[in-house]
Amino acid sequence: MTESRVAIVTGAAQGIGAAVAQRLAADGHKVAVVDLSADAAQATVDAIEAAGGTALAVGADVSDADAVDAAFAQILDGLGAPTIVVNNAGIIRDNLLFKMTVDEWDLVMAVHLRGAFLMTKAAQKHMIEAGFGRIINLSSTSALGNRGQANYSAAKAGIQGFTKTLALELGKFGVTANVIGPGFIQTPMTAATAERIGVTFDEFIEAVAKDTPVGRVGQPDDIAHAVSFFASEGAGYVTGQVLYVAGGPKA
Ligand code: NAD
Repeated sequence: MTESRVAIVTGAAQGIGAAVAQRLAADGHKVAVVDLSADAAQATVDAIEAAGGTALAVGADVSDADAVDAAFAQILDGLGAPTIVVNNAGIIRDNLLFKMTVDEWDLVMAVHLRGAFLMTKAAQKHMIEAGFGRIINLSSTSALGNRGQANYSAAKAGIQGFTKTLALELGKFGVTANVIGPGFIQTPMTAATAERIGVTFDEFIEAVAKDTPVGRVGQPDDIAHAVSFFASEGAGYVTGQVLYVAGGPKA
């Protein structure tokens, strides 16, 4: 039997985050659906409520410290103390190194790394008070290196080091911290990549599927399933791990 907790999922208006929020709600948790605006997050909240779950739409830029503080105040008031956090909000600003601007570098670092830091720092005190916590951070197979993604691959590798340190610092308080590294997942983010490289999304999906051992691309629910495992009561002895969910082996 799953104990009902308060979970936060960032970047949950669409794509992977929306599926994760819905899955955690189906698992019995109350879910704060955080995205850049509460309006954008509302569709995910509506879907959760339609399925009988409890959710709250929260607007916040995760890289903005004041916005994160305000979001936590709203979540504490609306749902209670959060003990599950999924740092999923993300952006891409792809470019080959020689063309990459300082803004493209800084923005990607801010959302992925500063965002995960601010959210986790705000959440950990509630987890320590509860003697239970689950931190789940989204990395990527791009952490292993990906042409055109110097900024993103550095941020996603950074997420792994960050998470392993959280596992070391917080383990004794009943808090685990793990990473999920998705391969290609069919979301608005990968649709935007197809557009940028000048192929249709269907062509892109077909090409990636051919190159993937399981013969298909990933869906947001593939990631939600892995999040559900890491968030579960029974996963308390699993911490500091990186799980690639990519349809094939990754280093
Ligand atoms: P997506 O672009 O479809 O959704 C990302 C969401 O994050 C959007 O709703 C966006 O508004 C929100 N967001 C962006 N910046 C934010 C900010 N500063 N504060 C709050 N919310 C913000 O992306 P997705 O494909 O669902 O990816 C989700 C996560 O998974 C990201 O961290 C991404 O890097 C990672 N990932 C995705 C893939 C993939 O193939 N789609 C692969 C590996 C890793």
